[in-house]
Formats: sequence, structure tokens, C-alpha cells
Amino acid sequence: MALNRREFLKLSSAAPLVSILGLDLTPAFAQAGELKISRTIQSRSTCPYCSVSCGVIIHTRGRDEKNLAPYVVHVEGDPDHPINRGTLCPKGATLKHYILNETRLTKPLYRAPGASEWTDISWKDAIEKIARKIKETRDATFVEKDAQGRTVNRCEGLATIGGCTDTNEMNYLLVKSMRSLGVVYLEQQSRI
Ligand code: SF4
Repeated sequence: MALNRREFLKLSSAAPLVSILGLDLTPAFAQAGELKISRTIQSRSTCPYCSVSCGVIIHTRGRDEKNLAPYVVHVEGDPDHPINRGTLCPKGATLKHYILNETRLTKPLYRAPGASEWTDISWKDAIEKIARKIKETRDATFVEKDAQGRTVNRCEGLATIGGCTDTNEMNYLLVKSMRSLGVVYLEQQSRI
């Protein structure tokens, strides 16, 4: 069959594609069309970039597969989420690259006082250090009575800020735990 360039392109974009040069390409195109998210596991999450908190679906391959390390194939807006109903702004649409970025931190780092280099530490050590600093700071800055002698029992040396992906339940626990330490400076990204 003799085809010029325009006729070839016309035929190539016709659906269903059949019998170009004597070959039926329909099965090959059907398989290519489902490759991207076929056999993925979907996880619902929240975009971490801003306080709008759009819902996203993360498609992952390899979580239940032998001989395949888990990796993210695609991230899209969650059509069932009441905030964004499937849409994402350009920042949210780049989330896959945020997850797969090789410069992303995946473990705690510690820089000792006076040191210029960061070193890897375990989560256990990091949590112990944070707990120790909280205790020392609270002990040093706790105020039992104000200038007029009234009991206030507050810690003025600590503050906390919640992130945009925190749920109501997470924020409830955060506020309860901070109030139990006497922390009065509480903020949340969705108010900023
Ligand atoms: S998708 Fe855009 S608007 Fe939605 S939370 Fe992410 S950054 Fe904010």
C-alpha cells in the first residue's frame, strides 16, 4: 500500500487501529494503554504543599510483588475527595517527583553543637534527643505564677506548629499533649 505522510498519520490515529501493513495492532495498543497504572496498589493521601490539603491517590507497584522493590508509578487527584474532587494545581501535579526525588530525606540527621557536618542517626536516638531537649527546655522556662502572683503553670520556651496534612484527630492529640506540657504557643498551617 502506497501512503504519503499525511495519509499515514491519518491512518495511525484512527480507532480502532486495524490492519496497517497487514498487522492488527489493536492488542498492542490496548496493552500500552493500560500499562501505566495497571497492577498498581492505590493509597489515599493528602498533598503536603499547602493548607488547601487536596486529596491524592498514589499508585505503587511492587508492594505485593516478589522480586520488585516498591516504587511510585503515578500520583493523581482523588475524585472522591470533597476538597479538590480529582483536581490538582501544578504544584500538586508534580508530587510523584517529590516522592521520587533523590535528594529527599528519608532518615533523621544530626548536627552536633559546633560541628559542620550532618550525620545519620537512628529514629530511636533522634526521638530520645528530642525528648531530652523538650524536658530541659520545659524545666528551664516553666512559669508557675505570673507577675501578679496568679497561678499560670505555662511553658514559655516551647512552641509547636502543625502541618497541613495533619488530620483533626492528629491535631486533637497534638494540642492535648502540648497543653499537658504547659505550652501556650500553638499554631497550625491552615491558619497561616
Ligand atoms: S494540589 Fe495545590 S492547592 Fe491542593 S494542597 Fe497541593 S499545593 Fe495546595
